[in-house]
Amino acid sequence: MAVKQVLLLGHPKLYEVCEPVRPDEVEGLEPVVQDLHDTLFDFRAKYGVGRAIAAPQIGVMKRLVYMYISSPTVFFNPVLDQQSQEMITMWDDCMCFPDLVVKVQRHKECRITFRDQDWQEQTMFLEKDLSELLQHECDHLDGVLAVSRAIDAQSFALRSQVEFLD
Ligand SMILES: [Zn+2]
Repeated sequence: MAVKQVLLLGHPKLYEVCEPVRPDEVEGLEPVVQDLHDTLFDFRAKYGVGRAIAAPQIGVMKRLVYMYISSPTVFFNPVLDQQSQEMITMWDDCMCFPDLVVKVQRHKECRITFRDQDWQEQTMFLEKDLSELLQHECDHLDGVLAVSRAIDAQSFALRSQVEFLD
């Protein structure tokens, strides 16, 4: 469909809680899923990173996440649970602040339950990369950005400085 403008850090919509998707809305959201795909791939072309995008990042306030890692996955109304006690610490980034990285802690493992594009309930057990990625994306649906999860006052850096980070 189209590459959409990604809302940037500071835009008030990024701090809003998104509405659940109803079954009768799925068909109407197909163009939004295509927009999320196009916008994600445009960002990848520019920055060389980007594995997933949440609908509110393009101003659509619905509980919808689109991920593309070798193939597309659409998550309607994703819910995380069974978060591991064990945490991982990492420098996180976000399409809403492309030049910034933030040090956060995420659960090493968790479970995600969601509806797919055929409105079938799906469950995936996530670890490491996928676990932190989908915690980040599901946070977007609740109006939480990675900057709000910074570990401390030294947990912010410009992307250009990543060579100095541990
Ligand atoms: Zn993000």
